[in-house]
Amino acid sequence: MHELSLCQDLIDQVTELARKHRAKSVACVKVQIGQLAGVEPLLLESAFTIARAGTVAEQAEMITEVVAPCVLCNTCGAESEVTPSNLLCLACGGNNTRLIRGDELILARVELVVDD
Ligand SMILES: [Zn+2]
Repeated sequence: MHELSLCQDLIDQVTELARKHRAKSVACVKVQIGQLAGVEPLLLESAFTIARAGTVAEQAEMITEVVAPCVLCNTCGAESEVTPSNLLCLACGGNNTRLIRGDELILARVELVVDD
């Protein structure tokens, strides 16, 4: 399962953060999923409950946010937020665009529980 290995990567990143900040646990993990990342938010959330078991993030809640793709136009230089089915530049209508966001999975925020 694709989502499970993604979650294991996320858990690795979260564990590393928690270690750096001497956190005793992780309360919340927020992930941004690009619409073109090929990741199903619900599958990711359920995979997370498997991946987190026995880690510092065992109690962590996962929040997913789907982000629209964004393209940079090579013709006019405009950045446009677009839909996955239409990657044309919104400013000039050109198709000479480059995807700058929307095909990745980003660890947006991690809430750590730290002893004070
Ligand atoms: Zn353009």
